[in-house]
Order: sequence, then C-alpha cells, then structure tokens
Amino acid sequence: MGNGDATRLVEQLTSSGLLDRLYIGGEWVLPMGHDRTSVIDPSTEDAIAEIALGNAQDVDEAVIAARSAFKTWSVSSPQSRAALLGRVHSLILERAELFAQAISLEMGAAISTARSAQVPMAAEHIRVARDNAGSYPFVIHREGMALMREAIGVCGLITPWNWPLYQITAKVGPALAAGCTIVLKPSELSPLSALLFTQVLRDAGIPPGVFNLVNGSGPEVGAALAAHPDVDMISITGSNRAGVLVAQAAAPTVKRVAQELGGKSPNLILPDADLARAVPAGVAAGFRNVGQSCSAPTRMIVPRERLAEVERIACEAAAALVVGDPRSPQTTHGPVANRAQFKRVQEMIDAGITEGARLICGGPGRPQGLERGFYARPTIFSNVGPQMRIAQEEIFGPVLAIIPYDSVDEAVEIANDTVYGLGAHVQGRELAAARAVAARIRSGQVHINNPPWNPHAPFGGYKHSGNGREYGVEGLQEYLETKSILGWQGEPG
Ligand code: NAD
Repeated sequence: MGNGDATRLVEQLTSSGLLDRLYIGGEWVLPMGHDRTSVIDPSTEDAIAEIALGNAQDVDEAVIAARSAFKTWSVSSPQSRAALLGRVHSLILERAELFAQAISLEMGAAISTARSAQVPMAAEHIRVARDNAGSYPFVIHREGMALMREAIGVCGLITPWNWPLYQITAKVGPALAAGCTIVLKPSELSPLSALLFTQVLRDAGIPPGVFNLVNGSGPEVGAALAAHPDVDMISITGSNRAGVLVAQAAAPTVKRVAQELGGKSPNLILPDADLARAVPAGVAAGFRNVGQSCSAPTRMIVPRERLAEVERIACEAAAALVVGDPRSPQTTHGPVANRAQFKRVQEMIDAGITEGARLICGGPGRPQGLERGFYARPTIFSNVGPQMRIAQEEIFGPVLAIIPYDSVDEAVEIANDTVYGLGAHVQGRELAAARAVAARIRSGQVHINNPPWNPHAPFGGYKHSGNGREYGVEGLQEYLETKSILGWQGEPG
C-alpha cells in the first residue's frame, strides 16, 4: 500500500458524506451539534480529514433509538444474533485492506501491523462472539429454579485510539451476542475505522437502532452517555483519568460500569530463563504497536547476575526495529499516535535520565532522518529502580525499563508493586517454577513463555487497571443480568 491508497480512502469517505454524519436509528444523520475536529495523520502531522462531532442531544436521540430496538433485539433468538455476527465477521475480512489503511492513517500503525494484527485480531472478537451467541446457555436449571441470563439493556461503549477497531469489536461483538443494543462513542482521534465498521454492520443487515454511532469528544458525548438515565451499562476502555470520570458520572443512575484502564505490566525473567528467546520476545511485546498497548510488558524484571547479558540482547533486538513511514511495508514501527503521546514519551524519557536510570539505547528526540511526524526512538533504560517514575507510570510509548532483582521473592514483589494489574509475563525453563510465580502475580492475565494470543482468554484488570473482563465467555457475561425464577420446578416445557 502507498500513500495513494490512503488518499483514495479519505476521498471515498469524504465523497460518501460519512465523515459528516452519525449513525442513529438505522440512518446516517447529520448531528445536531456544529463542532468538527480534524483527523491528523501522525506520520506527517497533517490534517487529512474532518469529522462532524455529536453532542448531548445526539446522545439522547441515539439512546431513544437503542431503547426502542431493545424490545425486539433482546428477545431475538441467539441463533439469529449469531447469524448476524457471522455476516459482520465475513465483511470485516472482505474489507480487511480498507480497515488496515484506515487504522494506519488515523493512528500511525505500520501497515504490516495493521494487516497482521490490528484487523485480524479485531475480526476474531466478532467470530468468538458469534460462536458464543450460538452456544451459550442463556437459560439453565438448578435446584428447582430457572436462571435466565438476559441482556442488560442499552449499553454505552467508549473506546480508545490505540487498537481502534479491536477495542470496538471487543465490546460490540459480545454486547450484540447478549442481546443488548448499543451507542458507540469511539475515540475522536481515530474515527475512520469506526465509520467503516458501522458501514459493515449496516451492510450485514443489523436492525435499525440496535447499533448507533455518535462521534464526539469525551467530555461532551462520553460524559452524556455515562450520565444518561436510560443507559443501563457503560463500558470504557481508556485512561484511568477518563475511567474514573465515567464511573463518577454513572454513579447517580446506578448503571453497571466496566472499565479497561491502564497498565504497567511486568515481564518477570526467572534465573533459568533462556535469555536468547525470552529477551527479544519481551522487547517485541513491549514495543508492539509502538508500546501503545495497555498490557504491554514495559517492565523487564531480570536477575542481577544476568543484567549485562540481558542488556546486550535487548539492545540488539531494539536496533533491529525499523522505525519509519507506516505506509512502507518494510516498517515495523510507525510514529506514536498523536502529539500528546509524543510529548508524554519525551517527558518520560527525560524523567528516566533525570532519575538516574542507565540509558542503553534510544533516547530523547526523533530517530535520525525523521524530522516530521510523531516518531519516537525505541528506548531502553537499565538499572531502573522499582520506584522511579519510568517503573511506576504508564508511558504508552516505546520505552522499556529493565529492573534488576536479587531473589525471586523480591522479583514477585517488584512485579506486584504498582497500582496496576492488567497483564504480566513470566519466562523460565522449569514450568513448575514459572507456574508458581504466575499464581503469585496480581493481574488479570499472565503469559508463561510467550504463548500465542488467545481471543478466548478473559482480559481485564486487578487494582487500578479496571473492573470487569472482556473477550470470550466472560466478555459475553459482562453484558448479561441474571434472573432467578424460583418455583419453576423442573426443566422448561
Ligand atoms: P482516553 O482516556 O483519553 O480516551 C479513551 C476514550 O474515553 C475516548 O473515546 C475518549 O473520548 C473518552 N473520554 C475521555 N474523557 C472522557 C470523559 N470525561 N467521559 C467519558 N469519556 C471520556 O484514553 P486514550 O488516550 O484514547 O487511550 C489510552 C489509554 O487507554 C491508556 O491509558 C491505556 O492503557 C488505556 N487502554 C486500556 C486498555 C485495556 O483494555 N485495559 C486497552 C487500550 C487502552
């Protein structure tokens, strides 16, 4: 793909009028609000498109449409919902290249990452939701009663820009499978893939009102959704700041709140680990998507006696990354997604230097030869103290902290010593020891020796990383209420 393809995509979206519209009640409609925002290509810093933003009145209209559609959608057969999700899955795969281009353009993912990860992994959430809709026991019988697991209602879904399509499908797929109706507010920084996804749902034949899209800012549209008295559940993936504001806005209406928030995930390398495998895999995972993943293992916790070896292998792995134009197929890492992220990454690299961590590769500023665009240098600090800012705060960029330890007990303590608890990795040859360490880590997911991604594995946070679980069966259950009917007596008949 070249820049020509990206230009054509924007031209298509502009001429179709979708950039000016919201999707409410089965129609592409003009918003009531008059605000607009630019979509910035982070590789050039140029505005490439403008979208129309909705406001609180648009949220009201979308919630009315979703409430009305809930009456029939919530009692539709799970098989018919599975069939719809099957069509959505096929259409995403059919339009995969279009999605990859949109994502690369709106948030700077290298086209290779967009094609191999952002889009196919997003499609997987829809496939899993389809399968679960068809097989989940929505009614069970126990102890003379019936337990009905029913759709919770109208769901407000708020998503971030880092894995824009993936974060949307991780919520929309299970919510639809459960029988919920939806008002989606994607990140205003990455609206293109969300518009294409809405078009997919429409082409798949989703009934009017079941899915509604309201683009807009967090403080206007996101906050209106969170506070809305007729929204039954709000699910946000984003920063802790936004997650707390959403919970506060939601509290007076006692709606269910699901939060997928930040992380500072540890990668605990045990003394017997095969460093030649574990360290490059750890660097790759930490820098995946330019470090803009909530569960990126950005703290590599390593035996002190092997620190020099770890440093050498880690720097070699970082040097092999190709940072550059996201539209070039050779590029492994594009720019970070926006100006705020670029500033944040620079601030945290400066903090690491000021606090006395040892900079072993990368550093401040842009990589050589890249004068424009939000490009950061893949940066590794060693001898990082567990209490330094770069060991405690989420950076959300290509910055890895190597922290030495003297005993496995101390390593586990360091791994657990942040406010977060989202992802974690453990590396070691002896499986029993690795499993024992995995069991001691306080986080929602632990990976032993870099297993492949599994869309069935529940994902979510302990501590300040959030509340609730996404993906797989647990992700579906998030959108269900349980009703126990006593006196039922026996099986359904
Ligand atoms: P962000 O919090 O700025 O925005 C996320 C979403 O929340 C956007 O749609 C935004 O418009 C909305 N929002 C912002 N303020 C709001 C408010 N007051 N009320 C309602 N909605 C509001 O986050 P971001 O910069 O888009 O994403 C990066 C953050 O997301 C990181 O902290 C990252 O760790 C987190 N994240 C978490 C997960 C996870 O699954 N745990 C996954 C991806 C990203």
